[in-house]
Amino acid sequence: MANMNRQSVVIGLCLVAAIAVIGGVIAYNGGNDNEAQAQRVKSRLKLADIPFDGAQSMKFLENICAIGGRVSGTPGMAKQQELLKRHFTELGGKVSLQSFRVRHPETGFPVTLANMIVEWHPERQERILLCAHYDTRPFPDRDRQNPRGIFIGANDGASGVAVLAVLGQQMADLRGKYGVDFVLFDGEELVYDSNRDEYFLGSRYFATEYKNNPPRHRYKYAVLLDMVGDAELHLYQEKHSVRWRDTRPLTFSIWRKAKELGVREFIPRSRHEVRDDHLMLHDIAKIPTCDIIDFDYPRPGRLSYWHTQQDTPDKCSALSLAKVGWVVSEWLKSVE
Ligand SMILES: [Zn+2]
Repeated sequence: MANMNRQSVVIGLCLVAAIAVIGGVIAYNGGNDNEAQAQRVKSRLKLADIPFDGAQSMKFLENICAIGGRVSGTPGMAKQQELLKRHFTELGGKVSLQSFRVRHPETGFPVTLANMIVEWHPERQERILLCAHYDTRPFPDRDRQNPRGIFIGANDGASGVAVLAVLGQQMADLRGKYGVDFVLFDGEELVYDSNRDEYFLGSRYFATEYKNNPPRHRYKYAVLLDMVGDAELHLYQEKHSVRWRDTRPLTFSIWRKAKELGVREFIPRSRHEVRDDHLMLHDIAKIPTCDIIDFDYPRPGRLSYWHTQQDTPDKCSALSLAKVGWVVSEWLKSVE
């Protein structure tokens, strides 16, 4: 995931400062509230209750992470692309790479990046886009110990891919009028210096192509999965996804589906405003796009694993992946 809205960061810092000024009691109470809230949203669902293979999804997440970093334009990314291409082709998906050239932010040399597109039922003209980014950040630059260490991106990178990897198994049997495309965006965070380098290279390219060279099909909705594997899952509604008038009904319909299924980790309130690939799909391609993202990693009030060396598979769980995969799968079947 890219970053939080700068304003939110400032507000957050101000709040922290305010709490520090007011004193420890309030900060302590705040912590308790967060704990209580986290307890409240835990559903009783077990892996065996959920008809989405969370264990397999988790295995997939681990396999991708075993490659190491999957930074855009590196051998790690190429290895992941090979693995995914084989996987989705075996499931009957039509896999292609949408390549594009950018100037590497660090070396200045041209580098080829590629979004991976997997088409299911390509003959259907009305389509739903399910997406995630599959590149990982070059460094864990928020890590206090080792900001130049190795970043694995188990939640921020692999989790969305791992949900789609298992969702692919259901796509051949998908009934109804909608076809589905999975898109794995490259260059979401090929960022060495966040004041200098651009985010969302892949989604920007994909959205611009869709706008300038419109295909015959149209996307009714897009759903972005990012940081969906946290073992302590808290899925608040991302603020753009609620504020955009064309997207709000989509977002509400996903959270309604979660409620129907008893997946209480989908919390029907907004909490974070996040800058992510959905901005490109919405603003350039004009596709209503909901970002399903758990930005409280591991939970509200705790120091975050986000963009640190702590973002590893042991912080994620099969159960969380199963919950997200199930909700998206059931929502997809219900789209009218
Ligand atoms: Zn990130």
